[in-house]
Amino acid sequence: MPIPLFDTATPLAPLQAELREAIERVLARGRYILGPEVQAFEQEFADYVGAAHTIGVANGTDALTIALRAMGVGPGDEVVVPSFSFYASAEAIPPTGATPVFCDIDPETFCVTAATVASVLTPRTKAVIAVHLFGNVAPVVEIEALGVPVLEDAAQAAGSLGPNGRPGALGTAATFSFYPSKNLGAFGDAGAITTNDTTIADRARWLRFHGSRDKETFEQLGYNSRLDELQAAILRVQLPHLDAWSDGRRAAARSYASARLDEVVSLPLATVGSEPAWHLYVIRSERADQLKLALSAAGIESRGYYRTPIHRQPALRAALTLPGTDAAARTNLALPIGPLLSVARVAEIAEVVRAAL
Ligand SMILES: *Cc1c(COP(=O)(O)O)cnc(C)c1O
Repeated sequence: MPIPLFDTATPLAPLQAELREAIERVLARGRYILGPEVQAFEQEFADYVGAAHTIGVANGTDALTIALRAMGVGPGDEVVVPSFSFYASAEAIPPTGATPVFCDIDPETFCVTAATVASVLTPRTKAVIAVHLFGNVAPVVEIEALGVPVLEDAAQAAGSLGPNGRPGALGTAATFSFYPSKNLGAFGDAGAITTNDTTIADRARWLRFHGSRDKETFEQLGYNSRLDELQAAILRVQLPHLDAWSDGRRAAARSYASARLDEVVSLPLATVGSEPAWHLYVIRSERADQLKLALSAAGIESRGYYRTPIHRQPALRAALTLPGTDAAARTNLALPIGPLLSVARVAEIAEVVRAAL
């Protein structure tokens, strides 16, 4: 049987009846935008991450733009962001009027560090986007100690644990994507902003509804970016299972480590004190392309992520030298992972990796 990179269907199979009930509940009520399901999900997700406020929005990219604006980012400001991330992490900055400033990562953790951020700070830096890449937890407290507010891009880190709490409650604000393949996935596009700061929460609520607090007076140019009732109801069914799914992901990562894959490739390194809910299990090898071919021949899906980092993309090109970024982009390869990936399947994958190298 082929092994996919991620299996989003199997963990949901036991929840089918509950998911249908949730969808029918919404249909019966006939309310589809910003209703009781969204309100309940916002409370439940805030409780889960340990933040005071959750604001449901249309997707993880809008979440970043709206959160930055709610944090006061605007024209003339700079926002630091890693180049080794999904493109949206940086794409979300220019719509605020601010300029993205790319920083490097530690290729062992795939995350930014206080040092990579510190080296690009200027008097115009208004915020840092710390991406919890692949589910690993970026060192938010160390970065905020540099004196600059952190927006966590936690799109890949629902279910992870950091040394000081969960992603979503570590920085000044945080954003999530509930794109279907993420650790907590909707059945369409969905996203959220979390924060402990009431002013930021209020501004984000207004911005997601056209910049209006009362739906009559429009004080700012905002967005139509709302989480809908169907997606919220679907997410509410899944949220109680996120911790068990995350434990399953961690167990699969441990299986990879105990299969002694570290003898042939570099394994992802969890940041100090963190327990990542690995969204992707990404190894590094100078022979990543050869390995991908061998895995593919054995029916095992794998994928090199962000081979062209953001600072080399046509739309956001910047002439920079980012050695950690280039190393990660060239050598990374994601192996299958998921809440239910068994020890036997990991052993099978590990066997193919060893044979290939
Ligand atoms: C998925 C993702 C986003 C964007 O989320 P969408 O819901 O697809 O808009 C942003 N940042 C990172 C790191 C992501 O993985």
